[in-house]
Amino acid sequence: MHEPIPVTRSLLPSFDEYIAEVKPLWESRWLTNEGALYRRLENELRGYLNASRISLFTNGHLALEAALEALEVTGEIITTPFTFASTTQAIVRKGLTPVFCDVSPDNFTMDAEKIEELITDKTSAIMPVHVYGNLCDVDKIEEIAEKHNLKVIYDAAHAFGVKKGETSVGNFGDLSIFSFHATKVFHTIEGGGIVGQDDMVFHRLSALKNFGQYSPEDVGEIGGNSKMSEFQAAMGLCNLRHVGEAIQRRKQVVEYYRKHLSSIEGIYVCPEQKGVKSNYAYFPILISADEFGENRDQLYGRLCEKNIFARKYFYPLTSTFRCFRDKFPVQPTPVAQQISEQVLTLPLYADMSVEDAEYVCAEITGGRK
Ligand SMILES: *Cc1c(COP(=O)(O)O)cnc(C)c1O
Repeated sequence: MHEPIPVTRSLLPSFDEYIAEVKPLWESRWLTNEGALYRRLENELRGYLNASRISLFTNGHLALEAALEALEVTGEIITTPFTFASTTQAIVRKGLTPVFCDVSPDNFTMDAEKIEELITDKTSAIMPVHVYGNLCDVDKIEEIAEKHNLKVIYDAAHAFGVKKGETSVGNFGDLSIFSFHATKVFHTIEGGGIVGQDDMVFHRLSALKNFGQYSPEDVGEIGGNSKMSEFQAAMGLCNLRHVGEAIQRRKQVVEYYRKHLSSIEGIYVCPEQKGVKSNYAYFPILISADEFGENRDQLYGRLCEKNIFARKYFYPLTSTFRCFRDKFPVQPTPVAQQISEQVLTLPLYADMSVEDAEYVCAEITGGRK
């Protein structure tokens, strides 16, 4: 039996590299609340992401919630059901009503042509997701947002390092939220960041993540706590040195998958986006049962038996979650529904060997009943 191939595996620096980074904390005893490591990481990420403003959080989810608070989003927010639980839960936890827009069949991001028909007098924002690192139709979304005076908050959790031409992904919309969770391309164990331009919004965000305190005696927001600690920042400083190489290694696996799976009957692979620099975060495939000879669940099960652990990411759609039942109307999103029933993301991580990708492809194509 082949060694298990997980769907993902966290990037880690060497033990010594991490220890060297955290060692000074035993001197300073400054473990969180924007310490020296936090400030260094903020600076380095500002450079890497070409961001005019950035604020770091203890995770991506709380960053999403803080972004909704800082922009004072109210009423309805147009979003996608083809995403991780976090996007929709952030909206609902902030007392907002999600309105679900269908997705594009090419790259699975929000179908910008279908946004306008969902706008009502209660709509105040759009929250699209650069799903799998695929860039949303940012130009069309900006045009719609300007015309209707809506905020745009991108869930960029999958899109660390993605660029459109020379423009870094965080420079679209009002705010972009990154996740630095252990399973993401770049991580700080748990962590998140918000990128944007507006100084006033960032002033508010830094209060929001620290119990709403503008100063020790001026508590101006009902903020809660979502600060990034020094140990998280240390992991980020280490991983940032290696993320470029990690993305290159992911690229080799993705290129192997692309070459060997794109022309298989019954398998759909997203086309590469023209002019977009990818981060090779995920490799989704869609299985059409009639042509492939097996449905998605059968393939998933067969791969598990061979110690290959793909993931039904994203299935089911967030709009169908039991926790949301009867809480708001759910718009039909037939394209997203079909994708969620056909999709599998394949194993992909920085230290995955091309031989392992070979084994995965051989099992996908060879073992059909
Ligand atoms: C990972 C993820 C989040 C949440 O980020 P955390 O850092 O895990 O809290 C939000 N949205 C999407 C699309 C994600 O993949």
